[in-house]
Amino acid sequence: MNESASNNESASREDAVPRFLVDGTAGKLARWLRILGFDVLYVSACEVPALVRLARQSDRIALTRNTEIATRLGDASILLRSEHLRGQLEQVVHSVGPDAYRPFSRCNICNEKLERVKKETVRGRVPEFVYATQDSFSSCPQCGRYFWHGTHYANMLEQVRLIVEGDHDESE
Ligand SMILES: [Zn+2]
Repeated sequence: MNESASNNESASREDAVPRFLVDGTAGKLARWLRILGFDVLYVSACEVPALVRLARQSDRIALTRNTEIATRLGDASILLRSEHLRGQLEQVVHSVGPDAYRPFSRCNICNEKLERVKKETVRGRVPEFVYATQDSFSSCPQCGRYFWHGTHYANMLEQVRLIVEGDHDESE
């Protein structure tokens, strides 16, 4: 499908969208941010000085629970207040604004941008019922996984929508 009409808009928007570096203190968050379409580099284990250097060199905002990293990086970091995924996601989404994310545009494993594929090409490669009920498919150029907007993703997106709109139970 040709989407040239929206190309300019998405390109300029992309420049403004922050890229993140997530350390081992927030692994789940890394995966979720990728699901939301953010470019996320995940580093599970790294010494503080090396991580700080990496964040600066790669021009990424560090998302961390580590106060030393956050202090060293200042504005180029977000110190995550919550130890829970939901609170962390809420904090990040609120800091970047609700328009910054593009759900399901990136592989949550490889961080690669997904490419749209024609429905015919996934025949026999995705479960039968998925093929029968879904029309829009994309694949990851890195790992070859296929993605579609199934119930699972719909549920996740709904959770994110609730977080963005602040319509959730604080006690959770
Ligand atoms: Zn992938």
